[in-house]
Amino acid sequence: MTPSTRAQWEQRLETLDVPSEAFIDGGFTDSASGTTFDNVSPVTGATISEVASCDVDDVDRAVRSARDAFKSGEWSRCDPATRKATLIRLADLIERDLEQLALLESIDMGKPINDALTVDVPGSAAIFRWYAEALDKLYGEIAPTGPGDLALIDREPLGVVGAVVPWNFPLEMATWKLAPALGAGNSVVLKPAEQSPSSALWLASLATEAGLPPGVLQVVPGLGHTAGQAIGRHQDIDCVTFTGSTEIGKRFLSYAGESNMKQVWLECGGKSPNLVFADCADLEAAADMAAFGIFFNQGEICSANSRLLVQREIQGDLVDLLHARALEAAPSHPLDPATRMGALVSEEHVQRVMAYIGAGKTEARLVVGGNRCSVSSDCFVEPTIFDNVPPDATISNEEIFGPVLAVHPFDSEAEAVELASATTFGLAASVWTNDLSRALRVGKQLHAGTISINTVDALSHLTPFGGFKQSGFGRDLSLHALDKFSGLKTTWIKYQT
Ligand code: NAD
Repeated sequence: MTPSTRAQWEQRLETLDVPSEAFIDGGFTDSASGTTFDNVSPVTGATISEVASCDVDDVDRAVRSARDAFKSGEWSRCDPATRKATLIRLADLIERDLEQLALLESIDMGKPINDALTVDVPGSAAIFRWYAEALDKLYGEIAPTGPGDLALIDREPLGVVGAVVPWNFPLEMATWKLAPALGAGNSVVLKPAEQSPSSALWLASLATEAGLPPGVLQVVPGLGHTAGQAIGRHQDIDCVTFTGSTEIGKRFLSYAGESNMKQVWLECGGKSPNLVFADCADLEAAADMAAFGIFFNQGEICSANSRLLVQREIQGDLVDLLHARALEAAPSHPLDPATRMGALVSEEHVQRVMAYIGAGKTEARLVVGGNRCSVSSDCFVEPTIFDNVPPDATISNEEIFGPVLAVHPFDSEAEAVELASATTFGLAASVWTNDLSRALRVGKQLHAGTISINTVDALSHLTPFGGFKQSGFGRDLSLHALDKFSGLKTTWIKYQT
């Protein structure tokens, strides 16, 4: 039975076997050097596992195994119906291990156990199932050539895909890459973030149980500048799919240029605006969703609506409503099923967020929050709101990746669009108005991958997700994600007319 109290979850944790070895060539293994890194939980402040620290040699071994598996054709050239059945079994196994996976997510990176149980793990299973179901429904094309020519256009897997992912939704970010990349027939070398390696390693054993042939999926936990860089620079990886910061995304472009010109797909940071016009029909709903848009997952979301642009005549009312919601969202123990805001991922990240809050205190008016706090460790930060933030302030331009909202007033629609667009990012934007023409007009002018109208940060595996500008390029989710992991091949055939 699913634990219903914090004490029951803590008890469950005591008996949980937290995976710590790399998964290469179909089995768990130490790193070649034998070195490990500490996986420190922000929930307890304690080390929960000593994880194999993979480096160049391990990545190389994983890539060789992935290449061999690819060449064998057992997965890369099998009937799509076989791939479909395997990935559906994997989805079933993720659902079977819902509680273990949710516990690993929560303990690794501090998110509330209830979010992991209801969002992360079921979301991952649903995505594997959705791509699996698509695989035997994709057709090739025939070009409209003249008589005597037949030109067949088909998709082919690329070969070996390197996937490097962040810690904020460890299982889901891995799934966003794995489901379409494996579904398209590639072999994958996955590097989870060093802060959250456990669920990816658990997933590797489930993939084996589901019948994925050895070598098709490798998981190489390790640090960014070692294992991550080794993937970026490897000469025999055909494509890297990355989610993480803009800074590291740019490095992957360099790695590719300096090695084998592998394809690179980047999902990077954001500073997404949420525009609330005075004709918004339901200010309470706008406040609920604005709070969700910045406080869900402790604000550790690339598409977090971290800038609230509000028309001046409703600024006071909306800020008051948000103030109340910030107080309600106060952090508490991540393993308590009632918790809505958990711990930030690490001491280092808390310090980074607190430095931004410190800058904000000199730049704008602090409405609420602004402190770190102790719950089960010191990795907790109060939901924080700054009002009347100058557009050039640090906290309105740099991605904080924490529960910190910057509020800016505007007077006219044109000013709102200008403020919203004054960013190097282009991941998401939201617009609240009761005027459909305005919603569509403003939405058209905002250069962002996803526009949410009268809601915030709308997301589904049915639609593509990704950004413009320095939020990256390429799209995760939807059938479009398959384009990143396959190449088009044309075969010409001459025949007698
Ligand atoms: P990060 O860029 O520091 O790390 C992401 C991954 O890159 C990790 O696996 C890390 O080990 C690896 N890495 C770090 N340094 C590396 C290097 N020198 N070479 C190769 N790999 C390296 O990001 P993070 O702190 O883990 O995550 C937060 C960032 O991720 C935020 O900027 C956030 O916006 C972004 N993010 C984006 C999306 C999206 O879909 N656009 C989703 C989630 C997170």
